[in-house]
Amino acid sequence: MTAFKTLDDIGDVTGKRVLVRVDLNVPMNDGAVGDRTRIEAAMPTIRELADKGAIVLLLAHFGRPKGAKNPTQSLSLVMGGLEDVLGHSVMFIPECVGEGAKAGIAVLAAGDVAVLENTRFYPGEEKNDPAFADALAEIGDLYVNDAFSAAHRAHGSTEGIAHRLPAYAGRAMEAELKALDAALGNPAHPVAAVVGGAKVSSKIDVLRHLVSKVDHLIIGGGMANTFLAARGVDVGKSLCEHDLVDTANAIFEAADAAGCTIHLPYDVVVAKEFAPNPPTRTVNVHEVAADEMILDVGPAAVEALADVLKNCRTLVWNGPLGAFETPPFDTATVALAKTAAALTREGSLISVAGGGDTVAALNHARVAGDFTFVSTAGGAFLEWMEGKPLPGVDALSQ
Ligand code: ADP
Ligand code: MG
Repeated sequence: MTAFKTLDDIGDVTGKRVLVRVDLNVPMNDGAVGDRTRIEAAMPTIRELADKGAIVLLLAHFGRPKGAKNPTQSLSLVMGGLEDVLGHSVMFIPECVGEGAKAGIAVLAAGDVAVLENTRFYPGEEKNDPAFADALAEIGDLYVNDAFSAAHRAHGSTEGIAHRLPAYAGRAMEAELKALDAALGNPAHPVAAVVGGAKVSSKIDVLRHLVSKVDHLIIGGGMANTFLAARGVDVGKSLCEHDLVDTANAIFEAADAAGCTIHLPYDVVVAKEFAPNPPTRTVNVHEVAADEMILDVGPAAVEALADVLKNCRTLVWNGPLGAFETPPFDTATVALAKTAAALTREGSLISVAGGGDTVAALNHARVAGDFTFVSTAGGAFLEWMEGKPLPGVDALSQ
């Protein structure tokens, strides 16, 4: 892991203006914050800095206003939710650069918290325009990035500013980077990866990267069908990207060369229609009928996969094993997630998971709290799984 400074290194912040990049891109429900997870994630950093007497200036984006001011995407809409979680009032400053921002900041005292307006109201943010990053740097003394979920973007508030002010990782960023390092950066072996979900095409780069990093690659979900087809299995009406059979074969070869074992299901749960609780059959992969779809991994395969996890020290998981939103095709995902959770509780496995549907599936299985770390970062988590550099993280390590 490249070294980065944390709040432990920040020194005396009393009366200093600390620009803190957070993730306030929360889902809204009838004009109010619908889910507070992201706000809560930012609390340790905000509280720590405010308690130390900093002037805490929150920078964030909200929605996709594409460089123009749009009242429906103003961060003022998030203030109520933020104040509720923080437990006291927060000032809103309707600019994030320039004289308006400076005037708002001038009235703040040590320990105050303020939210600056949506960084994406300014075209320089997403262009990472040096003039915009300069203007941001002018209103603060120090910079803290606590938004891992935005770190895959080289934007003014995530990357440009980090080169202009002393830059630190916030507590949520620090926890995320440590967990990811333990999972793939510098993991205890053997390492297993579970990659599931709908399509190979959305995760080719993830698979390519993982075969060089992990000892066991467990492929499930719709994407397993493409790999089964590449092995000559007739997958019937299943979701399958037949045009990607060559890609699947290249991944098999890369895994062989790297000493990575690929695990595909050998029994599966099939149905003729994709609906809740339809008639199903559990069959060997070679017995799928022409009018049937594979919608979940079968019980024998799940048991074998549980044995793989029992012999591993580290697990990284992205993508459900089946169409988990529709019962009973959540069975394999829930069972393997429970195994991973139990092994983590026993202390024999470090388990890190991420991805929108993956987080939903782990919550559905009621085991998210038992995993070592569950990332809610979405795009940034996937780019990290692809082995891509994250500009917002790299900028912190300089
Ligand atoms: P994540 O959001 O965690 O990265 P994905 O978006 O890649 O995960 O994949 C999740 C989707 O894959 C779910 O909607 C799930 O229903 C679907 N899926 C999993 N297995 C199958 C399958 N066998 N057939 C069709 N869809 C599947
Ligand atoms: Mg998804």
